Amino acid sequence: MSVFFSKSRKNRLIHERVHDPYKTTRKPREPSFCPVCNAVFKGGRWQWLDSWPVDSHQEICQACQRIRDGYPAGMLTLRGDFVKTHQTEVLNLVRNQAKGEQTQHPLHRILKVEAWPDTVVASTTDIHLPKRIGEALHRAYKGQLELNYERKNCFIRVNWISTSDEPDKTERSKMKRR
Ligand SMILES: [Zn+2]
Repeated sequence: MSVFFSKSRKNRLIHERVHDPYKTTRKPREPSFCPVCNAVFKGGRWQWLDSWPVDSHQEICQACQRIRDGYPAGMLTLRGDFVKTHQTEVLNLVRNQAKGEQTQHPLHRILKVEAWPDTVVASTTDIHLPKRIGEALHRAYKGQLELNYERKNCFIRVNWISTSDEPDKTERSKMKRR
């Protein structure tokens, strides 16, 4: 059986103000740049810029801090026969989605990817990337997608389990109406 969820509700939860231990209450001074990844904090957000003023402040961004500490904000677990038989394809999708996300959002990154014969586990520096990857897998290969957001810890767990069959359409429309 597939698990479906109300998209609007999950999105709202993610966008609520939450306690993130890596998010300081004060914003970095502008402009600041991260000496580890060279992301620049300007206009109220971290972004990729070709250059920044020489007198910019230095501040290690949250993504680099999490990578340094090995402290993920999200965990994505992929399991099932499809992961076993098409692991390269699955890993490529994970990497491509991560690349696309990181281009737009410098702090949304893969922290670590581990692969076993029928399981792939990826940890991320943010709570959005696992959802993006999970939804891309679900779009491309169906299967079961579960999102579990722990608001208190500002942590998201996304599980995707491949199935050979399409989800039952009657079941899907029934769940969506709730
Ligand atoms: Zn950085």
